[in-house]
Amino acid sequence: MLPRIVVAGNGQLGQMLQQAGAPLQLDVMPVDPNGDIELGLRPDDVITVEIEHWSDSVSGLQLKQHPNFRNAEALYAVIDRQRQKALLDRLQVPTSPWVSLEEGDLTSQLESVADKVIVKRRRGGYDGRGQWRWQKGDQPEAEWAGECIAEAMIPFSHEVSLVGARNAAGEKVFYPLTRNWHENGILRASVANLPVPAEQQQNAEEWLGRIMDDEGYIGVMAMECFVVDGKLLVNELAPRVHNSGHWTQEGSAISQFQLHLRALADLPLITPPVDGVSVMYNLLGRNWQPEWLQVPGVHVHWYGKEIRPGRKVGHVNICRANTAELIDSLKALQTLVDEADKVVFDWSIAQLEA
Ligand code: ATP
Ligand code: MG
Repeated sequence: MLPRIVVAGNGQLGQMLQQAGAPLQLDVMPVDPNGDIELGLRPDDVITVEIEHWSDSVSGLQLKQHPNFRNAEALYAVIDRQRQKALLDRLQVPTSPWVSLEEGDLTSQLESVADKVIVKRRRGGYDGRGQWRWQKGDQPEAEWAGECIAEAMIPFSHEVSLVGARNAAGEKVFYPLTRNWHENGILRASVANLPVPAEQQQNAEEWLGRIMDDEGYIGVMAMECFVVDGKLLVNELAPRVHNSGHWTQEGSAISQFQLHLRALADLPLITPPVDGVSVMYNLLGRNWQPEWLQVPGVHVHWYGKEIRPGRKVGHVNICRANTAELIDSLKALQTLVDEADKVVFDWSIAQLEA
């Protein structure tokens, strides 16, 4: 008997976990953790999360206090950027230089990190929210003290992420590094299965493996990195399935969602096969169009949300057997999307041609 998987959070990640459970008739139940209702949890349910923050509401407490609530330790460490950075330092995983901003002379604290820094709220930020840029000579905001960390602005050549999973027996598997393009802190697109130096892949797997082992983690975790002079620096961790892993839905025979469920339900964890190349394009405040489905390799994932400017309302995976075919599909889809999104395709094609 497979356990029922209860997901704290009922956004698109919960929805996609549910879709991934369907072929196995694995019951995946996303719930609102901020509600004030009795959720009717059963003792053998397994609880996972798609979000990192929720209130101590009636439902929220039932989830947190369930004996099979997974990864409480990892969530505690990662939910607060200060604790997350301290974890990376303790495990000797390279990350950008940082300090925790405390009451007192903020300018000298900021200057001790670098001439250009990014100030990040310790808790609650996502998609680039809760972040400020500061450079030498700027006036710091008094409200940063006690609330934020400051980290050096990294002159990266590009950004990559690693998505991996670990099960209760400590077995770990990983996807190839994914190249990501963020704009104003929001992921616009990812390109997967580009050739990467073996050392980068090995280092990333070793670090994420070390982190998951340390936390006794079960499920999928993502690690975002900067690439500087060909070396990786870890930006941040996400203790859940991740937007930069969405390409695995059609780009691998085992999606990150299925991988997460396998780890949680203690089903065999094998290295996910990845044969072709993929691009994931986020629909940010845009609708999709039926004619897109004519383009070979195009798969639309629509979240059923109201469209608002900049809001993540869906994504499109474009998956082909090789680079030449993928570029053909990207060029075809490029002619059909909103003018302002054509640049996403220029970027993706440039990564593939490099
Ligand atoms: P997510 O939605 O992925 O959780 P987030 O809002 O939590 O994002 P970060 O990943 O810390 O925030 O930052 C968002 C983006 O801002 C990064 O992907 C990167 O493009 C840029 N950024 C963040 N920190 C730095 C840094 N130290 N140096 C340069 N760029 C940075
Ligand atoms: Mg991020």
